[in-house]
Amino acid sequence: MKAQALIFLGAPGAGKGTQAREVAKEFGIPQISTGDMLREAVKKQTPLGLEAKKKMEAGELVPDEVVCGIVEERIGQPDCVKGFILDGFPRTLAQAQFVDAMLQKKGRGNPLAVDIKVDEDTLLKRLTGRQTCSVCGEIYNIYFGPPKQEGVCDKDGGKLLHRADDNEATIRQRLVAYNNQTSPLISYYGKKGMLHEVDGNKEPDEISTGLIAYLKS
Ligand code: AMP
Repeated sequence: MKAQALIFLGAPGAGKGTQAREVAKEFGIPQISTGDMLREAVKKQTPLGLEAKKKMEAGELVPDEVVCGIVEERIGQPDCVKGFILDGFPRTLAQAQFVDAMLQKKGRGNPLAVDIKVDEDTLLKRLTGRQTCSVCGEIYNIYFGPPKQEGVCDKDGGKLLHRADDNEATIRQRLVAYNNQTSPLISYYGKKGMLHEVDGNKEPDEISTGLIAYLKS
C-alpha cells in the first residue's frame, strides 16, 4: 500500500465509512472511526461520552484534545502495526498536525489523505436516507441502496438504525463545521503531495475498485 496510515477526508455523507470499510477489508488493516468510537462512548455513558454527547447532537466538533487522545491510544494497539485507516480524523488543522507529529515520532512516515468529493445535494440525501446495521455496521441508504427487507440488514438480520445526528438541522451544522474546519485539510495534504482525490458521486463499487487499484499501484 502507498502509505501505512490512510486518512479519509470528505464531508459528512461523502462515503468515508463505506469506502474505508472496503479498503480495510482488502488490505487487512483496521478502520478507525472516531465517530463510531465517540458514539460507543455516548452509549456507554463514559466520562468521554458525556463530554462528547452535546457537541455531537449539535453537529459541532468534539474538542481536539479529546479526539486526539482516543486516536493515539487506538493507534498504539497491536492490530495497527501493519497500517490503519483513519475515518473521520483529522477534522481540524490541530488534529492533522498532531497525527503527523505522532506518526513521525513513531517512524511511520507520512499519512496519505484520500479526499472523497460529493455534491451538497447528494450529501443531504445520503445522510437523511442513511441506515446502519446495529450488528455489523454495514451502511444502507433508503433512496440509493435499500436493504431487501425494510429495517433489516441483508447480511446478518441485524436491526438497521438511523443516526440521531442524521436529521436536516444537525446535518446543516455538520456541513458548516466541515466547510470551516475540515476542508482546509485538503490543501494542507495537497501541499505535502500526500493527497488523492476521488469522485464520490459514482457508485460505491466503482469508487472502491478504483481506489484500491490506486493504493496498490
Ligand atoms: P462521524 O460519524 O464521523 O460523522 O462523526 C459524528 C460526530 O462525531 C461529528 O459530527 C463530531 O461531533 C464527532 N467527531 C467525529 N470525529 C471527530 C473528530 N475527528 N473531531 C471532532 N469531532 C469528531
